[in-house]
Amino acid sequence: MIYYKTEEEIELIRESCLLVCKALAHVGSIIKPGISGEQIDREAEQLIRDHKAEPGFKGYRGFPATLCVSKNEGVVHGIPSKEEFKDGDIVSVDCGVLLNEFYGDSAFTFAIGEVATDVMQLLRVTNTALYKGIEKAVDGKRIGDIGFAIQDFCERKHKYGVVRELVGHGIGRHLHEAPEVPNYGKKGRGPKMREGLVIAIEPMINLGRKEITQSNDGWTIVTKDGKASAHYEHTIVVRKQKPELLSDHSAIEEAIAKNPDVNEVPVILSESVTLR
Ligand code: MG
Ligand code: MG
Repeated sequence: MIYYKTEEEIELIRESCLLVCKALAHVGSIIKPGISGEQIDREAEQLIRDHKAEPGFKGYRGFPATLCVSKNEGVVHGIPSKEEFKDGDIVSVDCGVLLNEFYGDSAFTFAIGEVATDVMQLLRVTNTALYKGIEKAVDGKRIGDIGFAIQDFCERKHKYGVVRELVGHGIGRHLHEAPEVPNYGKKGRGPKMREGLVIAIEPMINLGRKEITQSNDGWTIVTKDGKASAHYEHTIVVRKQKPELLSDHSAIEEAIAKNPDVNEVPVILSESVTLR
């Protein structure tokens, strides 16, 4: 069952998404070698509660934290730990909040210090793929158009692995609503999108093969081949002419630009990306 949102509901989801991005921007300002996942998690939770909101993931199916913190070969769903980040790590941080009964959801992969060239390219391509997918979220197009755009760019063009088992989703009063939004697919297939559909689009792209496995903690999803994985996510609303972003990464990008320990991850604009 797909729930199309009213304009009032869309504004509430936007508020939730902007708080998520504020928390991620704070993470972007403090993340560096020597800081741990637990520390960024604690600060993000405090920021969210200071805004009279609740962490959206904490307690969700038993997840124990505010942030999913997935490092290097970690794809998603990593539990923040005491382990300190090191120079050369990439850290995918996924955050959700519940505010005024509506969820917001967004994610960003941070590159700390001297990150390998091929891994930096993976981050740029994945961040670019997110916007290439978003561009397709227009009234009258189908969910498969989004997945095709992401898969075509990441898999066929850049030879990366596109994770199959984990997908984007509708979002609103529930963190995960219909429809599922895969990062692979065929043009013109899947549910038709109409104005007012709010979805989270979230490519999870592997440097190597697409296969994943679950680590021993029962949560963290890692690549089977141990190679790096990247994750960027926006919540958007389908509109008639072009989609509208409800989350906003600009505050995250500004925080990174001021943080000497974190590398910027520019979208590859030569790849005909019109939406930022
Ligand atoms: Mg998320
Ligand atoms: Mg999500």
